[in-house]
Amino acid sequence: MDKTDIRSMYLSELEEYVSNFGQPKFRAVQLYKWLQSGVSSFDEMTNIPASFRLELDKTAYVAGVKICRRYASKLDETVKYVYELYDGEYIESVLMKYEHGYTVCISTQVGCRMGCAFCASGINGRTRDLTASEMCAQITAAERDNGIRVSNIVMMGMGEPLDNFDNTVRFLKLVSDSGGINIGLRHISLSTSGVVSGIKKLAEYNFPITLSVSLHAPFDEIRSKMMPVNRKWHIAELLAACREYQKVTTRRISFEYALIDGVNDSDICAEQLSKILKGIMCHVNLIPANPVKENSFKKPDRNKILYFKEQLIKRGVNATVRRTLGADIDASCGQLRKRIKEGGDSENIQ
Ligand code: SAH
Ligand code: SF4
Repeated sequence: MDKTDIRSMYLSELEEYVSNFGQPKFRAVQLYKWLQSGVSSFDEMTNIPASFRLELDKTAYVAGVKICRRYASKLDETVKYVYELYDGEYIESVLMKYEHGYTVCISTQVGCRMGCAFCASGINGRTRDLTASEMCAQITAAERDNGIRVSNIVMMGMGEPLDNFDNTVRFLKLVSDSGGINIGLRHISLSTSGVVSGIKKLAEYNFPITLSVSLHAPFDEIRSKMMPVNRKWHIAELLAACREYQKVTTRRISFEYALIDGVNDSDICAEQLSKILKGIMCHVNLIPANPVKENSFKKPDRNKILYFKEQLIKRGVNATVRRTLGADIDASCGQLRKRIKEGGDSENIQ
């Protein structure tokens, strides 16, 4: 029999679960607090009777992540983690320090099946989805490792959150629960490559999170070459879903635009981008593309990036260039895990 992933349960589900053991409701509250605080075993739950802990251990497991590698920046407080999961798979997470507090960038899948040409996470496809508990564990592990409290979450690590929809929704509800990790939905950003069906479903929940859409090109011809998802849902359909999402949630949408030299950084691209975003309350986040060993994409030089930004601003589009944190940790998301899987990692470990 497979053991139950008890850390992914809502309090109401835990109440039902413990009642099957003849335990009172308050036991579920105790259990929930321990689970959400990031303990790694039932043994640590000192106010739960030892006999019940033993019973729990037979039927359930406490999902966690184990720090496999820790890369700390010497330039700022950024720490990149490679975590090992219970089945020997690896995922990546990043802890970043901003003026307003600590942000963790979490993964939502092991690998990714969206196949974007510029991204290292998708190179070997998707191995499996992460559970809600494994998403929560990335946050509590970083908190415990550094003795800090995380205030913001970005779902921008490995994987496509809307391709793991149910676990993503469960995670959002769990992590924002005031009896648990308690990070408000307004402090969470979810990034999608443009899974239109998922954006529509997400709108129904009306979560006050920030939706980030990885647009990266204003023409279908270019975007379809960069992102296979665009062959299924073209830009017009994606932006229609964004407009609809905004109507329901009244939240500003963030568009990610990774600038790649000679691919999507022309004047015509800037002009077209401003045109297609007309009428959407949004912000464009320009990201200088990170080089990935497996492809030949390069980022444009600094002046070209700033020029692209000015072209947008001139046309009334709110745009900024993403600050680079942890620039000395030479690996963008997906690359660290790949390196470790291939056995070629020995540098930069703390
Ligand atoms: N799957 C989701 C979220 C994870 S990727 C998505 O695609 O939105 C997080 C962000 O990193 C996305 O905007 C993605 O397009 C971007 N990204 C991936 N590889 C990159 C690279 N090599 N350089 C710059 N940005 C990259
Ligand atoms: Fe997946 Fe996002 Fe990478 Fe595309 S950019 S392959 S959707 S993780």
